[in-house]
Amino acid sequence: MLKYTYDSSENSDSETQSLNPIKTLDFTYSSMNLQSATQQFEELSKSIEKRKETIETILLFNNELDALPANISAFCNLKTLDISNNTITRLPDAILRLPLTTLIVKNNNLTNDGLPKSFAELRSLKLCNLSGNNLEYFPTQVLEIDTIEYLYLGNNNIVQVPQQIEVLRRLKVLCLGGNNLNEIPESVGNLINLRGLILSANSLETLPASIANLKNLKSLLLHKNRLRTLPTEIVALKCLSELSLRENPLVVNFVNHMQHNPPSLLELAGRVIKLHNIDIPDGELPTTLRNYLRSAHRCVNPKCKGVFFDNRVEHIKFVDFCGKYRVPLLQYLCSSKCVVNNTVLHGSYADSAMLRKVLLG
Ligand SMILES: [Zn+2]
Repeated sequence: MLKYTYDSSENSDSETQSLNPIKTLDFTYSSMNLQSATQQFEELSKSIEKRKETIETILLFNNELDALPANISAFCNLKTLDISNNTITRLPDAILRLPLTTLIVKNNNLTNDGLPKSFAELRSLKLCNLSGNNLEYFPTQVLEIDTIEYLYLGNNNIVQVPQQIEVLRRLKVLCLGGNNLNEIPESVGNLINLRGLILSANSLETLPASIANLKNLKSLLLHKNRLRTLPTEIVALKCLSELSLRENPLVVNFVNHMQHNPPSLLELAGRVIKLHNIDIPDGELPTTLRNYLRSAHRCVNPKCKGVFFDNRVEHIKFVDFCGKYRVPLLQYLCSSKCVVNNTVLHGSYADSAMLRKVLLG
């Protein structure tokens, strides 16, 4: 049943206890329900009276709790609370008054309505784990916790990630695996401290190119999605050492199925002007056309000097990872004639010793 944890467990006489006060209350695997837990907390509050301020960790995982006892707020210096693997449907506002740094509520029955309306009072929280619950949308309360570094929302039913996720600038790990996501907002690229991004087991068809801004990213888990290609910009992730891609319909013969619509006359005229560097004096062209000419993109084929405007050819470039795996990256060319074989885009993966683990099959 209850296991106290002392800083030094060698000696448990009262003198030692006052020198090394109890810091952890361990109620794991104790078949506790709400009633027995409330009673235990009540009795403990009396028996350890003044020392209850010293309790920093309460472990309640693997019990039969359908709710959290409200008198948990008596442990006013509680920093870590783990209530995983119960059947909890709601979190009481009482937890907002605790100075929590770690809150683990994975594998319960929490719904969005069961969460406190605001998390603004959790001013020290670094780790929040709400994985394995019944959340149907992204809990926007989380965006109020600007101290958060580790956010786990995996195995819920979340369908969308808000653009505002970018406010969580300290995030190091973001887990959204096992949800119903179709896309990831471009703003994820602003979470520049991310080390781990877990997006596996969703319905993603594309990734935003802004992923390339995540310069500290070490682990990118994308398995079990609907990805056919990866953004070419992913090559810029120099820290990446783990990339999982298995169970994605990554293309093999994409070029053969390519549909090609011919460019408009406007586009063709624009391409000629750019290709031959034709100088047009100010005032000779309306502003709309001048702006159009400025919107030209250079073709990625290094042997082509051409540009494109709205009409581009998507081409899949297979790049070697670690000299072992061939990964399809999406690139844009000015015409289907520009498809080049085996030319290196932005440096080769062969010399990227960082990437140690690629899971494709
Ligand atoms: Zn070209």
